[in-house]
Amino acid sequence: MFYKTGKLRFECTGCGDCCRGNPAQYYIYASSRELGKIQRFLDISEAWFRRRYLVRLDTSSFGIRMMPAGHCSFLDGSGKCRIYSVRPVQCRTYPWWPEIVETRAGWRNEAKRCEGINQGVVVPLKKITAELKKSTED
Ligand code: SF4
Ligand code: SF4
Repeated sequence: MFYKTGKLRFECTGCGDCCRGNPAQYYIYASSRELGKIQRFLDISEAWFRRRYLVRLDTSSFGIRMMPAGHCSFLDGSGKCRIYSVRPVQCRTYPWWPEIVETRAGWRNEAKRCEGINQGVVVPLKKITAELKKSTED
């Protein structure tokens, strides 16, 4: 596993690019429990929450929709997350996802998207392992 080299450096600059993407290709994964938490945080009805913020993935599951302008529904005009305190695990654990850190190619490829990759100090392996575990739990 690439991340086990113990040499991965990362420091978030807050650029917000991980909250952006083509709506035809991307959505933000969130479990139904996480979506319920966000809905309660926003204090809106389930019907309105679904219509305004979600994309249907199959008959029973939803993801957070990317806007036509190419950013997450919850990214505000100043590049901040409007639901930061209840954002999904997927957002909390980025970039410590298996598909990014398990191979050198995955890490290098993600660095094209995230300017914090390969910046700052080396992140302790213990932290990466803990984040990876969280990222695969629901
Ligand atoms: S793309 Fe990377 S540097 Fe930019 S906000 Fe996301 S994690 Fe931070
Ligand atoms: S929920 Fe917040 S942190 Fe996650 S992609 Fe959307 S704006 Fe970014």
